[in-house]
Order: sequence, then C-alpha cells, then structure tokens
Amino acid sequence: MTLAKLKTEFTREFGSGGRLHVIRAPGRVNLIGEHTDYNEGFVFPMAIEPQIFFVCRPRTDGKVVVKSSLFPGSTAEMSLSGRITKGEPKWSNYVRGPIALLLAKGVPLVGMDCLIINTLPMGGGLSSSAAMEVGTVRAMLTLAGESMDESALAQLCQKAEHDFADVPCGIMDQTIVVSGKADHAMLLDCRDLSRRFVPLDKDELTVVVTNSMVKHELSGGEYAERRQQCEEAVRYFGKTDPAIRALRDVTREQLETGRTGLSDVVFRRARHVVGENERCLKFAECLTSRRYEQAGQLMLQSHESLRDDYEVSVPEIDFLVQTAMNLKGVYGSRMTGGGFGGCTVSLVQPRFVESFVQEIRQAYQSRFRIEAVVFATHATDGAGVLE
Ligand code: ADP
Ligand code: MG
Repeated sequence: MTLAKLKTEFTREFGSGGRLHVIRAPGRVNLIGEHTDYNEGFVFPMAIEPQIFFVCRPRTDGKVVVKSSLFPGSTAEMSLSGRITKGEPKWSNYVRGPIALLLAKGVPLVGMDCLIINTLPMGGGLSSSAAMEVGTVRAMLTLAGESMDESALAQLCQKAEHDFADVPCGIMDQTIVVSGKADHAMLLDCRDLSRRFVPLDKDELTVVVTNSMVKHELSGGEYAERRQQCEEAVRYFGKTDPAIRALRDVTREQLETGRTGLSDVVFRRARHVVGENERCLKFAECLTSRRYEQAGQLMLQSHESLRDDYEVSVPEIDFLVQTAMNLKGVYGSRMTGGGFGGCTVSLVQPRFVESFVQEIRQAYQSRFRIEAVVFATHATDGAGVLE
C-alpha cells in the first residue's frame, strides 16, 4: 500500500488537515527456538513483510481516538488526562495498554487521531498483537517528539500484553518487532536480551510461511501447564545444583542424570527445551557458514521435538511439515509459534518457491479441505516511521 493511499484512507475517516505521520510495525516469524523464551533460552526470529500501518496526526485536546480498518464502525477513545484502563472495544486494549504504561513512566504525550491499516493477519500466530503494541508506542512517541531505548520499548510492550491482553508472553515478539533488521534474523538470548544478527542471503534462501488456518483451543490451559512443568523440572535440577535458575542452565548430561528423578512427561518437556536451545545456537552457526542442509535438519528435529516431547503440534501442522520436506528445494520446515495450529515456517531455495506454494496448498486442500494461506517473505526492519 502506498503512503498516498494510506493518507487518503485516514482523511476519509478523520477529515483533512494537519501533518500526517505514518508508522509501520511488522509481524514476525520464529525460525527456530520454540518454547525457549520463558526458559531464559535462545530464539531466532525475524521481522516479516506483512505489517500494520498507523496513520496519525496530533490532537490538541489530550484525547486519543483510534480506528482500525479491520473493525469498521468501532472507535477506541481515551483521554490522556484520566486513568487509562482495560475497556471496549476489545481490540483497543492493544492500544490502551501501551499508552497507559507510557503515561505511568511519565513520558509527556500528546493526543492523536490514528487509523490502523494492516496487511498482517490478526490472530494467525505472526504476532499482530506485538505489532499493535509497538506501533502504538512508536506513533505516540513520534507525535510527542520523544524517544525511548529499544529494550525499554520492547519491555513496556511486553508488560502491556501481560496486563491488558492477559497473555503472559515472553520477550521475543516485542523485541523482534522493535529491533528487526532487513535481510537478517536475530539470535536473541532471552536471559540478558543480548542479540546477534545473522544474515539471510536473499539469493540463496527464502522463508515461506504456511498458515494452516486452524487453531485448536483444547482447554486453553496448555501453555500454563507447559510453563508449570518447566518450573517443576527447574526445582528438581536446582536441588542438585543451586546455580540452575532456569532450564537454560541445564546441560545435556544433567538432563540424562536427572531422568530417574522426574516423571516421564516432565522429563520430556525438559528434554525439548534443553535440545531446542542447542539446536537454536547450532542453527545460527549453520546459517552463518551457509550449511543450509544441516540448518534444515535442525528445523525438522525442532518440529519432531515439539510434536513428541513438548506435545504442542496438531495433525494439520504435522502434515504441512511432512509435505514440505518432500517438496523440491526445501531445506527444512517446522511449526512456528506456540502451537496447537497456526503456521509452519519453511526454508526454501528461491527458484522453488513458486512450485512450493502451489503444491503445498494443493496437498493440504485435498487432505483437509482447507485453503492454507501461504506466502514468501524476506526479513525486514523493525517498526519505524515512514513519514
Ligand atoms: P497474534 O499475535 O498471533 O496475531 P493475538 O491473539 O496475540 O494473535 O493478537 C490478536 C489481537 O490483536 C486481535 O484479537 C486484536 O484484538 C488485536 N489486533 C491485531 N491486529 C489488529 C488490527 N489490525 N486492528 C485492531 N486490532 C488488532
Ligand atoms: Mg500475539
């Protein structure tokens, strides 16, 4: 979408006049390192092309008025002089949270009119929630002429997701949406937030995201249950070695020695996390030295571990991964995101992307009668001001 078109849309909603700013916040996909973030481990995400735009202009009355093209007829309204709490419409909590926390930090803000326009699907596991939070903060800071350290910005948005969306997420999503770098993935240490950017050569690799379009809710408590199981494992390992504060600290040897003291299920959860941290670090090395076949095998191993040890996959996603691995030009494929549906991510040789997209859609359609949404993307910069 062009800037001119975005501004026309804004004017249609809010009327003309004033200087307009346009902010972009991307979605993200995690290449490897799943369910490691809350275990203080490693993740390897990149920012993607699908995105959310915030077209905005300052107001002088201290009010914030936000509309979204996805929710026609619904307006989020709040006053910067009052207390901002959770409220209606529901989607407005992704705007309310960040603004409330900016105010709590004492950042001087000005009112705004804002129109949100997205190409990033909502609720598809590509972190539209973090894009909403980060884009909101960038828009508010831009209008106020303020700036904020990138890590502080990510942490503020994470807290907004905890407090206003009731999602106890790790720090990965907000970090990559804030700090992504074009043509690079980010090896992020979720313990100290240190990061290393690893180049993804466009001529050699394309990242393809396949949305299964399924979301199995089950009882909804799976995420909390996995976290508790990880904590249980940490308590056990901590008894033998007090330096162990998170599964991040458990070595492969300690894991094997501890096997007899843990229930089978808690052992397998721990084995996933310990192995996934190793795979994530190896994967970054493989990409750096262009060992793509090996990188792809690590993705597949990650998937198998999430399926068998962590038990967060579903048949549709397993089918997509299996199918991808049998297609030409595919290095690797795995589920990405929390699990129970959502998307897979595949590393594909550029010249085979077109056939990949066609064939995976066709296979999925004939097996499950569902239209998968498949797109290729390169890594992009994190959120920024376009104008
Ligand atoms: P994901 O982050 O995987 O896309 P979440 O359930 O975490 O899914 O966040 C999705 C929520 O974010 C939506 O339910 C909605 O409230 C909000 N959201 C995302 N995109 C938009 C948008 N373009 N306009 C308004 N709200 C949005
Ligand atoms: Mg989300």
